[in-house]
Amino acid sequence: MNPIPVKRFFYRLLRLVPMPVISILVGIAVGLVVWGVLDQIQGRAIKKIAAKELEVQLDRRARESLIRFDQYLKNYAMTARLLANHRSLAEYLEPLFWSSQEAFEPVVYRKSSPSWLTDFIARNALSAPSHILLVDTHGQVREVYQSGDAELPRELEQGIGEKFTDTGELRTVVTRLDERPYLLVSDAVEDTGGYRMGDLIVVVPINDEFLAASQRGLSSGRAAVALVDVDKQRILASIDPSLLVPGTRLSEWRDTYLITTQSLPEYEGTDWNLLLATFISHQSVTKMSSRVRNFEQQQRVRAALVYILVFTLVIYLVSARLNKVLKRMAGFSQRALGIEHPGFKRGANQLMLLEEWIQHFTQLVLKAREEMSRRHESEMRASEALKAAIMEASLDPIVTLSRRGKVIELNPTAERTLALTRDQAIGASFSKLFLTLDGRRRFLGLLRDSRRARREGRIPQARGQLMARRAGGSELPVELSIVPIQLDDKFVYTVYMHDITKRREAEREIKSLARFAGESPNPILRVSPSGLVVYANAASSPLLAAWGTQKGGLLPAKQIEEVGEALRDGRSLEHETELGDQIYSLLFAPIQELGYVNIYARDITAVRRAEQESRRHQAELVHVCRLSTMGEVATGMAHELNQPLSAIVNFANGCSRRLQGSLGPRQELMDAMGQITTQAQRASEIIRRLRALVGKQPPIQSEVDLNHLVREVCSFVEFDTDQMGFAIELDPEPDGIAVDVDLVQIEQVLLNLVQNALDALQEVAPAARHLTVRTRLIGDEAEVVVQDSGPGIEPERMQSLFEPFFTTKASGMGMGLPISQTILKNHGGHIWAESVPRGGAVFFIRLPVAPSARQSLAAQG
Ligand code: ADP
Repeated sequence: MNPIPVKRFFYRLLRLVPMPVISILVGIAVGLVVWGVLDQIQGRAIKKIAAKELEVQLDRRARESLIRFDQYLKNYAMTARLLANHRSLAEYLEPLFWSSQEAFEPVVYRKSSPSWLTDFIARNALSAPSHILLVDTHGQVREVYQSGDAELPRELEQGIGEKFTDTGELRTVVTRLDERPYLLVSDAVEDTGGYRMGDLIVVVPINDEFLAASQRGLSSGRAAVALVDVDKQRILASIDPSLLVPGTRLSEWRDTYLITTQSLPEYEGTDWNLLLATFISHQSVTKMSSRVRNFEQQQRVRAALVYILVFTLVIYLVSARLNKVLKRMAGFSQRALGIEHPGFKRGANQLMLLEEWIQHFTQLVLKAREEMSRRHESEMRASEALKAAIMEASLDPIVTLSRRGKVIELNPTAERTLALTRDQAIGASFSKLFLTLDGRRRFLGLLRDSRRARREGRIPQARGQLMARRAGGSELPVELSIVPIQLDDKFVYTVYMHDITKRREAEREIKSLARFAGESPNPILRVSPSGLVVYANAASSPLLAAWGTQKGGLLPAKQIEEVGEALRDGRSLEHETELGDQIYSLLFAPIQELGYVNIYARDITAVRRAEQESRRHQAELVHVCRLSTMGEVATGMAHELNQPLSAIVNFANGCSRRLQGSLGPRQELMDAMGQITTQAQRASEIIRRLRALVGKQPPIQSEVDLNHLVREVCSFVEFDTDQMGFAIELDPEPDGIAVDVDLVQIEQVLLNLVQNALDALQEVAPAARHLTVRTRLIGDEAEVVVQDSGPGIEPERMQSLFEPFFTTKASGMGMGLPISQTILKNHGGHIWAESVPRGGAVFFIRLPVAPSARQSLAAQG
C-alpha cells in the first residue's frame, strides 16, 4: 500500500474522532504498555526477592537444626550422668568385686531392666539407647543392658579399651561402630563406699529416629533435615526417610531441593566427618514466588485501572477546557484579525483543527512579516536619507567613530570646522587627529563614562568641554557629546561637537560684568517674583541675616509683597527700613522682561544716627538758648529795675527822715516825691518795654503743612523716646493742613507740649508709656492734640497751668505754657488742657488754617 494515502486516511480519521475519545484510547494503550513492561520487570524482581528470602530462611533453619541437635546430645550426656551417679547403681556395686585376671562373660539383660538402671531416659523423652554398659576400670564390659533386638556392636564386645577408662569424667563421643554412627556417653561409677568401679556407657545409634527426636518441636514446614557422611557424600539418616532415603547420595537431591549444610561441632574422640544438611524443595520456592506474583499482579491491574481512569479524566477536562479556549480564540481572531478559521464542530478533533488553523495563521503572519520588512526597509531608506540631510544641514560638526575610535563618517560642517577633507579624515584616529593632548585625555574619560553608564543601564550619553585642534594646528574650545549606538552587527559612537569660542567670550564678558555687583560695597540682590533670592553679593550678608534668610532662601513676607508691587507697577520703589540696629535704604528695581527685581540697598544707619544726634543737639541748644535768654532777660530786668527802685528807696527814706525830724523845707520833700514818681515811671517804662519785647512782636509768618511741623518736632525727641523705650504714635490728617504761622514759634509750642508729655511719662513704667500726636482739620481750624498716658493733672492745678512760673518740676521754670499761650494768641489761636479719665493729660491747640486753604475749603463747601 502507498504510505501517503494511509497517512491521509489516518489523518482524516483523527480529525473525526473527538478529543475525549482519543484521550481514553490513548490512556488505555499507554496503561497496557506500561503494565506489560512492569509485569516483566516486577516478575523478575519478585523471583529474586523470594529466592533471597528463602535462602535466608533456609540458613536460619539450618542453624536452628544444628543447635537442637547439639542440645539433644547434651541432654543425653546429662541423663547418662544422672544414671551413673544414681544411688541404686552405687548400692548395686557395693558387694561386687571385679577381678581383671579372671576370664568372664558379661552379664546381659535382654529386654528386662536391671536393678541399677532407672527410667531417666524415657522420662527425659530421649530416643531409646540400643545398649547401656557397665565397664570396669580396665575397660572390660561387665554388664550389658540391651533394649531391643540389635546386638552389641562388635567393637564394643571386645571391650571399650582405653577410650573411657582413664579420667572417670563425663564424655560424649560420636563414633562409627559397625559402619554406623553411634553416640557413646560415659561417666564414672562408684560404689557407696566411694570406690571407683568403672564406667557407665550409654550406646545410642544415630539413626532416623534419633534425628527426628533431636528436631522435635521444630515445625517441619517445607524443610527436611538429614545427617550426611561428608567423605562419601551420602545420607546417613533423615528425619523423614520416606522423602530423603538414607544411603542415597547428596547429589541426587540437588535438582529437587535447595540444600544447605552445617558441620557438626567437634565431639570428643569423634573420628567421623559428619554434616547436618537442611533441604527445601525447589517446588515450594516456585509456588511461593508465583503466589506473591499473582497477588502483586492483581494489585497492579487495580492501580493501572485507577491510573487510566485519572489520566482519561484529566485529559478529558483539559481537552474540554482547550475546546473552550479554542472557541474563544477563534472568535477573537475573527473579530481582531479577520482571519478565517476552520470552525469548531461538535464531535471533531479540536486539536487537529487548531493545528490547521495555526498553520493558516502562521502563513498569514509570515506574509505580514514580509510586508512589514518591505515597509521597514523603505522607512529605513527614508530615515537614512533624512539623517543624511540632518547631518548635512547641521551647523555643528558631527563625526561617527568605530568602536576603536576611527572616523567612519563626518558631516560637511565637521570638514569645514576642522579644516580637512572627508577622504583625509576617514579611517584616522579621531582623538589623535582632532584633539589636543589634554583634550584626548578628557575624551577618553568621557568614553569611559558613557560605557559605564551603558553598563549600569543609565542613558549612556556623556558630555564635556575640551580643546579641539584644526588640521592647521589652531585650537578651538568645543562642547562635545558622545552617544554610543548599537547597530545590528557593530557598535559605533556619534560625536557631536559644538564650537563654544563665542560662548566662552560671552561668559567671560558676563563674568566680568557680574563682578560689578559682586564688588559693590553695598548690598545688591536679585529676587524672583516669588521672593526667592537668586543672587546676593558678598556685602548683602548682614542684610540677609537681618531678614533671617540666605542666598537661595525666601525674603520676609513684607519684602515679597514689595517685590510683587515693583513688578506689577514696573516702577522702582524706594524706602527706608530699620532692621535691628541698622537702617537701610532699599531700592526695588524691577526687570520686567526677565521677571526679576534687583534690590539695591544702602546702609544709612550712620547718616540717620548723625541726623538724629544733630537734632537732639539742636533741641538741647534751643532749650539752653531759651534758658540763657530768659536768664539774660531776668538779669537785665533786675539791673534795669534796680536803679529806679534803689533811687525810689533812697528818696523815700530821705522823705521819711525829713518828716520825722521836721527838717528842711517842704520844697525838698516835694522834689524828693517828684523824684520818686519819676523813678517809678522809669521802672514802669522798663517793664512796658520788656513786655513789648516778649509779647507784642509780630511773628515772621509763612505757609507750612502742620503735619510737617509735627513730624519735625517728633524727630527732635526721637533720641529721648528711643531711650525711654517707646515711639510716638503719629496720627496726621491724611491730606495735610496748611497753616500760615511763625515756624520757630509754633515748633517751640509743639516741642514744649511734647517735652512736658515726655516728662510726665518718665513717672510711669516703660510698658505703660504711650504718646499720641494727632492733627485734624476742624471747620476752618487746624487742631493738634497731644495725649499722654502719664500721671495726668490734678483738678486744683488745672487753673494755674497757664500762669507764669507755675511748675511742679525741680528744674522747671513754669514759663512753657504761658509763653505757648501768648504765641498762640498772637497767631489767632488758643490752647487748653484736659485730664484724661484713666490717667494722663491731653493738650489741645487750635490755629486758623492758611488763607489759601481756607479759600479751597470754601470752594469745596
Ligand atoms: P515747666 O514745664 O517748666 O514746669 P510749664 O509751663 O511748661 O513749665 O508747665 C507747667 C506745669 O504744668 C508743669 O510743672 C506740670 O506740673 C504741669 N503740666 C504740664 N504738662 C503736663 C502734662 N502733660 N501732664 C501733667 N502735668 C503737666
